Amino acid sequence: MIKINEHYLKLQASYLFSNIAKRVAAFQENNPDKDVIKLGIGDVTNPLPAACVKAFHDAVDEMATEAGFRGYGPEQGYDFLRETIVANDFQARGAEVNSDEIFVSDGAKCDSGNIQEIFSLDTRVAIPDPVYPVYLDTNVMAGRTGGYNDDRYDGIVYLESTRENNYVPDLPQEQVDMIYLCFPNNPTGSTISKEQLKVWVDYARDNKALILFDAAYEAFIRDESLPHSIYEIEGAREVAIEFRSLSKTAGFTGTRCAYTVVPKECMAYDQNGGRHALHALWNRRHCTKFNGVSYPVQRAAAAAFSAEGKVQTKALIDGYLENAKIIGKAIGQLGFEYVGGDNSPYIWIWGDRDSWDFFDLLLDKAGVVCTPGAGFGKCGQGYIRISAFNSRENVITAMDRISSALS
Ligand code: PLP
Repeated sequence: MIKINEHYLKLQASYLFSNIAKRVAAFQENNPDKDVIKLGIGDVTNPLPAACVKAFHDAVDEMATEAGFRGYGPEQGYDFLRETIVANDFQARGAEVNSDEIFVSDGAKCDSGNIQEIFSLDTRVAIPDPVYPVYLDTNVMAGRTGGYNDDRYDGIVYLESTRENNYVPDLPQEQVDMIYLCFPNNPTGSTISKEQLKVWVDYARDNKALILFDAAYEAFIRDESLPHSIYEIEGAREVAIEFRSLSKTAGFTGTRCAYTVVPKECMAYDQNGGRHALHALWNRRHCTKFNGVSYPVQRAAAAAFSAEGKVQTKALIDGYLENAKIIGKAIGQLGFEYVGGDNSPYIWIWGDRDSWDFFDLLLDKAGVVCTPGAGFGKCGQGYIRISAFNSRENVITAMDRISSALS
């Protein structure tokens, strides 16, 4: 008899986006004349930068020639991309990362979900609340948690991100082995300073723990004092893996290219306390289960780091940040407390009421779709997330409508 992995039965059905879709559909049926503006989902809306499109086309043309054709590439990514990434994303910021420590992939979602495979099942896991749900669900699937009670999985240490700690969690009271951190944060839009991040790196070093640092939104950082990479912090190479993505940086959500950094010094331990390099383990896993990102996509990704690519991607992100500023200003003028939006595409708003009631209010009165904070964890209750990913025109119209409906 074929049996299922019963840990999957513990997973909570993600009602979040289906519930949003249902409410939007009902609103549209009752208000056929009103158009709805969606500021809910975290997906980019602008086309690919021209430099990436050209490199993409050129690489496809190359593949059409006998001399330029390529079959399977290196699973870890082509050297031209790995070297470009290292020079631009790390060495330019004084962070030590070598090109053979870069693992190019088709997404930070896959990598941040798959990485837990190389760790023991009795790993004690600390996960932020609210959170990008992938970290939590993949550990549930693996069997690292108990059942779901009172909006939380037994066995997980939740790192609460609240108004009280300005959305940067405190160190856990109990000892943990694996810590997920994401900055700039999805969903709160909050950032972490170098001093705050150093506290986590020191904790990991003192406790032989590992930090999984998700920097998918680092390109939105405009405050020069903030770290873009955890490797800007002394000692991090021994205790941190970092996830990066071109999804939000260069509009690659539909094109798919990301990468994970596993420094050679980064260690984990066997039952007898023997040290093992995570680089070798991840390399083994990556080469066994993944056959590389396509050549044209890697060429398009490398073009995002060219001189013109940098200007174009910065312009893309500046546009979303300007949207975020417009959203923050309108929300602030209405008297709501909020965080995010200055170094992040997300604005996290304290509604002082149930998240879904707040969602319904914006939909019914303004025809604007946001994301209820409760969908990201228990600590998200009372909040909504508004995303800056939309056209300027739609953002301005949405905020005008919200302002006149709520003021
Ligand atoms: N990490 C965070 C925090 C995200 O919010 C997202 C996407 O929304 C991802 C990773 C996924 O990135 P990718 O598109 O590279 O899979």
